[in-house]
Amino acid sequence: MSILVVGSVALDSVETPFGRAEEVLGGSGTYFSTAASFFADVKLVAVVGEDFPEEHTGFLKSRGIDLAGLQVAPGRTFRWRGHYGFDLNEAHTLETQLNVFEAFRPQLPPGYADTPYVFLGNIDPELQLEVLLQVIRPRLVACDTMNFWIDGKREALLKTLRYVDLLAINEGEARQLAGEANLVKAARRIMAMGPRIVVIKRGEYGVLMFTEHAVFAVPAFPLEDVFDPTGAGDTFAGGLMGHLAANDNLEESAVRQAVVFGSVMASFTVEQFSLERLKELSYEEIQDRYLKFRLLTEFGPAAD
Ligand code: AMP
Repeated sequence: MSILVVGSVALDSVETPFGRAEEVLGGSGTYFSTAASFFADVKLVAVVGEDFPEEHTGFLKSRGIDLAGLQVAPGRTFRWRGHYGFDLNEAHTLETQLNVFEAFRPQLPPGYADTPYVFLGNIDPELQLEVLLQVIRPRLVACDTMNFWIDGKREALLKTLRYVDLLAINEGEARQLAGEANLVKAARRIMAMGPRIVVIKRGEYGVLMFTEHAVFAVPAFPLEDVFDPTGAGDTFAGGLMGHLAANDNLEESAVRQAVVFGSVMASFTVEQFSLERLKELSYEEIQDRYLKFRLLTEFGPAAD
């Protein structure tokens, strides 16, 4: 099964305690599509400016990502500048330049509307809703967002969430969206807004998935070298959706397994700046780390 994603394609400038990168490939749509492309066919809906390097378009094509929905508009590509302190769990945005995204109206190319899996990557919730209005009876709609939109476009975001099945959101942003400090209560409140699955991303502490009757926890992979957490959330969502779409199974056990594949993919992204690690990643490495994840949390039954 294939996946339709709308999200940002960006040039990021990032500073971490371990180094800096200027105007490198980034964006929620980019990280998501690249991660998902290891598992399923991906159609990317986004916009870039005329300054977007051909090398980056070439990379996305080399991953087999369908770029018929990637518009090239007059103007400059979306730019994001952020930095991380020693607490790599929190990105500090220094600058967001929407540029070509300001006038962007997503148009689904022919053949996109009936894509069964839809991911509304982190962009203006009004644009997320425009995409939703163009798709026909998707099997699963997942969504991500961030403080920028929770603050700035709350009403539009709440409207979008009514149509969302799965929301993947950072810990701090879950609290902000729900207006509730306790994560369990925050997840319940978010479920009341629409999503029946809420996945809370907790950086180096892993993820918590809430469904109506269960909570599922996955740790983050303990890495010795974490270089740049940018894109971890979108890569996580790409691995999760990619795996779900590949198996086309929405039972809870399948969603749990997909959450682990999302965690596996995110653990690679943070090892290097931008998409550098994903560019050289092989499917064998993904499988190998999945097995390591299993070992990480394996323990025996309770002793009598
Ligand atoms: P994350 O996976 O949460 O680390 O997302 C990082 C990516 O989100 C970066 O590559 C940025 O280009 C992108 N980004 C940051 N702010 C925004 C925004 N307001 N709208 C869309 N994309 C953004």
